[in-house]
Amino acid sequence: MNTKILTSEKRIIDLKDMRIGKENLPIFIAGPCAVESEEQIIKTAVALKEIGVDILRGGAFKPRTSPYDFQGLGIEGLKYLKKAGQLTGLPIITELIDLSYLDIVCEHADIIQIGSRNMYNYSLLKAVGKSDKPVLLKRGMSATIREWIMAAEYIASSGNENIIMCERGIRGFSDYTRNTLDLAAVPIVKQKTGLPVIVDPSHGTGKRELIMPMSKAALACGADGLMIEVHCNPDEALSDGAQSLDIDQYRKLKIALK
Ligand code: PEP
Ligand code: MN
Repeated sequence: MNTKILTSEKRIIDLKDMRIGKENLPIFIAGPCAVESEEQIIKTAVALKEIGVDILRGGAFKPRTSPYDFQGLGIEGLKYLKKAGQLTGLPIITELIDLSYLDIVCEHADIIQIGSRNMYNYSLLKAVGKSDKPVLLKRGMSATIREWIMAAEYIASSGNENIIMCERGIRGFSDYTRNTLDLAAVPIVKQKTGLPVIVDPSHGTGKRELIMPMSKAALACGADGLMIEVHCNPDEALSDGAQSLDIDQYRKLKIALK
């Protein structure tokens, strides 16, 4: 098979002064699940910058299970994110859920996130494959490793090989965790492809007390970075508060992982 992704040739993604995928140099991505207000994202960004985060995350378009739950601030959220990025110098990552917002997301973000629910959305994958922004591709919640790698191939075959793979847990039968974090996927995907692989222990477990141990485990098995949800006040978060750390907890985690 003619493939761009199934190669052992290592791919390093250069973004500002970062080299994503460079050995022993994990990238720290943190921020709230959702951008909730200008004040919230700026306050969070300033605190995270001080702690030494590399990339700020925040969802402006939220794919929620219930249509009655907070759906994100949309374009307004993108503007707040961009402002937070400019104020702190942090690159921005945000999720694209709909083809019609591709251009505006590219104008505001440095990395495009494709979420778990859209990993099988091949027209969206082909579209981000034509953009010049790096893409963070989350694993579909019921995707096999082959399906996940082939989703990356859709992006690469459209012209964009700057792809970061993100293991975020798969559906299992656990009655305790939100998802089952499949850490074996990290070395497998790194061996089968040349792409950087990061881990999201927030969605991978659904529980903030599991973020520290699973972050340590992720780095121990070779992850190129971590994406963690951080909120100034997780109990008041409009989405995913239970799997978000507060600023102080994140600071402690960052120190412990050094
Ligand atoms: C998120 O990162 O907030 C998110 C919605 O993640 P996932 O697509 O992994 O569920
Ligand atoms: Mn979330």
